[in-house]
Amino acid sequence: MDAWKQELKESVTSVAQLAGRFDFDPRPLIAVEQRYPFKITPHYLSLIREIGDPIWQQCVPDLRELNDEGLVDPLGEEELSPVPTVIHRYPDRAIFLVSGSCAGYCRFCTRKRKVGCPAMAPSFGELRDGIDYIAATPEIRDVILSGGDPLVLPDMVLEDLLARIHQIPHVEIIRIGSRVPVTLPSRITDALCTMLKKYQPLYLNTHFNHPRELTPQAAAACARLADAGIVLGNQTVLLRGVNDDPQIIGELFRGLLKMRVRPYYLHHMDLAQGTSHFRTSVITGLQIMASLRGPVSGLASPYYVIDLPGGKGKVPLLPQHITRCGDMLVIRLADGSVVEYRDLVE
Ligand SMILES: *Cc1c(COP(=O)(O)O)cnc(C)c1O
Ligand code: SF4
Repeated sequence: MDAWKQELKESVTSVAQLAGRFDFDPRPLIAVEQRYPFKITPHYLSLIREIGDPIWQQCVPDLRELNDEGLVDPLGEEELSPVPTVIHRYPDRAIFLVSGSCAGYCRFCTRKRKVGCPAMAPSFGELRDGIDYIAATPEIRDVILSGGDPLVLPDMVLEDLLARIHQIPHVEIIRIGSRVPVTLPSRITDALCTMLKKYQPLYLNTHFNHPRELTPQAAAACARLADAGIVLGNQTVLLRGVNDDPQIIGELFRGLLKMRVRPYYLHHMDLAQGTSHFRTSVITGLQIMASLRGPVSGLASPYYVIDLPGGKGKVPLLPQHITRCGDMLVIRLADGSVVEYRDLVE
């Protein structure tokens, strides 16, 4: 068996198991793990230094997840799905949900209602419907493989999907969104990179949230991908108590550049149910962005974006487009229209 598959099998998947390694009472958390999936790879587990640290908070269930505040489908994605495996919001690009599981489960995940439940894993028929939809929709130039995490699929399954998409004449580029370089860097094998290389132009956006995730193993995984000619970007989520700090974000973005990964987006937390304890105010995010501008290279300055509720789409948050009235933010969009957004008061 491949080493990465073995490592995945050795993941911690219950709070009871975790209590064997750290001194805490797992009993109250059983209700959380029954509601949302739980998995930590050995690599990611080894990054935890103490209970409650930024790595722990990202992967260990928390009672606050049972708080029902928030929306089940915060981005209105279900309405934008012509077939169950495709989210088609912008004319020229579509998300293709090819996997129902991940190497590890993030407590702040916007799709936490879906990922990790076996019933949500796409069937072969649903994958075929997705490819047929993309093939029949000539406006789609950019296909984003997502999930779940596409890189937990076996090489052969992934290659079959890539080959089918690659041969659709109107598809110009393929992107993969994956947190595997962070949670399971051993998955980025030479064999995987050799296979991916055949489906250029290929972009991979990964998901580092904290400088402590920039391990030698993760750096080696990114180097293998970059050496295969895959363009690497990173999407960070701004998380209260984890990385909502100018020093931490600055260190993260500079460290990513050293790993040949360009910071692409800093996401404001959306309103997914069970994640509200991670949300910061937009004002905090803007302050962090402002702190980056001087000391950090333009290469390390991503767009700070918010995915507005109800399927309105991603909007860059720029101070010159925001007016504040109490806790309401009035955000002016590129087309001149405005939307209101209730910010957190910190
Ligand atoms: C974010 C997103 C994309 C990709 O958008 P880019 O800004 O091009 O990275 C595509 N479709 C949906 C539904 C999205 O949320
Ligand atoms: S890897 Fe991505 S899809 Fe999977 S749980 Fe984390 S944020 Fe969600």
